Amino acid sequence: MQRRKFVSDSAKATISILAAGSLLGQQACSSSKQSSGRNRYYPQSPGLTQQPLPYNYKALEPAIDAMTMEIHYSRHAAAYTKNMTEALTAEAAGITHLEDLFVSMSKYSAKLRNNAGGHYNHESFWRWMAPGGKAMPASLQTVIEQQLGSVGDLRNKLTTAATGRFGSGWAWLVLDAQKKLQVGSTPNQDNPLMDLSELKGYPLLGVDVWEHAYYLKYQNKRADYLNAWWSLINWEEVNARYQFAISL
Ligand code: MN
Repeated sequence: MQRRKFVSDSAKATISILAAGSLLGQQACSSSKQSSGRNRYYPQSPGLTQQPLPYNYKALEPAIDAMTMEIHYSRHAAAYTKNMTEALTAEAAGITHLEDLFVSMSKYSAKLRNNAGGHYNHESFWRWMAPGGKAMPASLQTVIEQQLGSVGDLRNKLTTAATGRFGSGWAWLVLDAQKKLQVGSTPNQDNPLMDLSELKGYPLLGVDVWEHAYYLKYQNKRADYLNAWWSLINWEEVNARYQFAISL
């Protein structure tokens, strides 16, 4: 979707350049290209390295305990980043933005798929949470109410998708190609940006439902973890992604 849109934007930009060229000269050409390049990637999208956590390991307690956060970040997530780096070097050295990898993910190895997905999903996940959560902007609430009924309905749909995901995976709120909100889940470390994903769209919010995300505190009670996680959601980040995705 993003690549097609980019091609389409590039074509439009070229037409604009051709139209404007005779009037405005070379300056119009370079500014159109910059404009199209700026819009292509979410500015806060995960890069190719693991960033520091935006809070300390204890900051999400009691919903998520410090030991779970430390192991999750410093072992599980760090390993995805390390293994992604190896696989990128071996098979996709030219990739500078993971979005460009995900649109043709089916052409690459399972190692790259699992670890690039793992890296992107976790780097995003840390930023989809904040100590105590961050309140939902009214404009986003309106969109949710128009499309999904209510915030409670969104919560129920996400919980159903997350508890219904058999084994390991993620549950998501995405903006689909028709610019509509959709809720669903993916297995393993797949994400909705991948061409082979069973759920497709731009990820606005995701929750990790691998057992390593909750087992120390919640054991087999995934629904209790999801209930606690809800209070941590950084809705400002969700809204920022929505504003980006709706403009693509
Ligand atoms: Mn995880």
